[in-house]
Amino acid sequence: MPRQITLADGRVVEVECLSCALTSGLIDPTGGVIYESSLFHVHQDVAYPIRGLVILASKRHFYGMDELTDEEQLEFISLIHKIRKEQRNRLGIEKVYYFYNEDTTHHFHLWMVPRYEWMYQLGSSVESLRPVLLHARNHMNDEENMKSVVEGINILRDGMKDFNLKMKR
Ligand SMILES: [Zn+2]
Repeated sequence: MPRQITLADGRVVEVECLSCALTSGLIDPTGGVIYESSLFHVHQDVAYPIRGLVILASKRHFYGMDELTDEEQLEFISLIHKIRKEQRNRLGIEKVYYFYNEDTTHHFHLWMVPRYEWMYQLGSSVESLRPVLLHARNHMNDEENMKSVVEGINILRDGMKDFNLKMKR
């Protein structure tokens, strides 16, 4: 079902799939693209302003893990590994929650949500994810935190620069 999206510059576009619009470059994610290859697109959804939160989306439109091609499978795990390493080394993120579901209205994308101390008051494990995201969206949308989030995006982008080199080695 098509949905209307308001772009940062005020334009309203109608898209079938938000992830397609993002990964094709029609919509520029706030803070910019963290990493992009011919197969995948890495960005942060700043609607959930958590420093170091990353969304890893395929460029192709599909839903199931079992639909990844051989090439995509290899790059997918290498990308997760690399992103995780940069989260730890550059942002000091000690734990990450990963989630992905196939009954989404967007297409194939993995959330990598850093686990911070403040999140534990909202519960632990999978049942705390939604409260954590909502808390960030509703209570952390201030200028100072946004600045920190965008800084995190820039730091991760810098860290991802040598990803291709490593793949070729
Ligand atoms: Zn799509």
